[in-house]
Amino acid sequence: MHAVTFQAPGEVRVDERPDPELGAPDDAIVRIDATGVCGSDLHIFHGRVAIEPGFTIGHEYVGTVVAAGDAVREVAVGDRVLGCFQAACGACPPCRAAQFHKCDRSRTFGHGAALGGLQGTQAELALVPYANLTLRRVPEGMSNEVALFAGDVMGTGFHAALPVRPGDSVAVLGLGPVGLCAVQAARVAGAAQVLAIDAVEDRLETARRFGATPVHLTEDDPRATVKAATGGRGVAVAIDAVGDPRALDLAIRLAANCGTVSVVGVYAERAEVHMGLAWIKSLTMRSGQANVIAHLDRVLTLMGAGLLDPSPLVTHHMKLADAPDAYALFDRREALKIVLEP
Ligand code: NAD
Ligand code: ZN
Repeated sequence: MHAVTFQAPGEVRVDERPDPELGAPDDAIVRIDATGVCGSDLHIFHGRVAIEPGFTIGHEYVGTVVAAGDAVREVAVGDRVLGCFQAACGACPPCRAAQFHKCDRSRTFGHGAALGGLQGTQAELALVPYANLTLRRVPEGMSNEVALFAGDVMGTGFHAALPVRPGDSVAVLGLGPVGLCAVQAARVAGAAQVLAIDAVEDRLETARRFGATPVHLTEDDPRATVKAATGGRGVAVAIDAVGDPRALDLAIRLAANCGTVSVVGVYAERAEVHMGLAWIKSLTMRSGQANVIAHLDRVLTLMGAGLLDPSPLVTHHMKLADAPDAYALFDRREALKIVLEP
């Protein structure tokens, strides 16, 4: 089969790879019909998140089950399915506490040995462990390109906005697909206003269409704008959907006293922020991979009802074979969500 592999910083390649095979009784093999390119793939592309050369990348996928072990009950061969970016066993203490993102046997697709050695989904076929929990049938009437968001980008935006309460002011830093989904999720959670911060004009305009107030990172003054919009108090929830210390530091500055800084942007290294400011403001910080398995039913219900709608985020459909071009395009921020089709 063909698969997109990481080669070196700045270089991905479409390679011939062996077809995956069932191992455990609750494994499934999925023929990939659509797979996304994510900001997390860009961290790998840039070499900031290190993985082994030759490893297959990608973790957003919709496809058809072509093989399933004897213990797979929730989906069957022939089903059109969507999947989560991460697989969890469902049986360990963290899973029993619904902390699926911290499963003792957690494996993240396409992130190399460090995150469980699970080959990615930017491929013609993918092995899916713990298929009963990791996969879900695509709801009737939902398109592939919408379903693709449930197990990662929208689930992550939803996770980011979990602390939002009705009437809150919210700031979202970074308006890639994740930040734009967080804008929608914050609105659904009842945010009275969402201040959406980025430096890319198209993305600011999309945030505006989603009901947010766009704030240009450098041409506007985000701190002054947020202050003016919140009676000088700052926002109840500041979401870092970037994964850059400068964004995290700004999030800490924009948060009101007793506010929450919700960090879904990826960090793999030390980062310097103004901890004194976080401390004196009594901020709460939450971070880490999103618990998308826990949110999946709610996210699918909200997407089915049209309250969360990722469809405007899909700007490009490309062939899997054109993945190197897709990565270059996304890296230049000329695309929002690229859907690759084998
Ligand atoms: P993306 O690269 O498309 O978007 C990042 C956006 O941040 C860009 O629009 C960029 O212009 C903007 N930006 C850069 N520096 C900024 C700054 N200082 N202030 C404000 N905006 C700034 O990526 P994406 O696909 O939307 O993903 C966003 C982040 O979420 C990435 O770090 C990704 O790895 C992460 N992610 C995390 C999880 C999770 O489980 N926690 C899941 C999916 C993605
Ligand atoms: Zn992703």
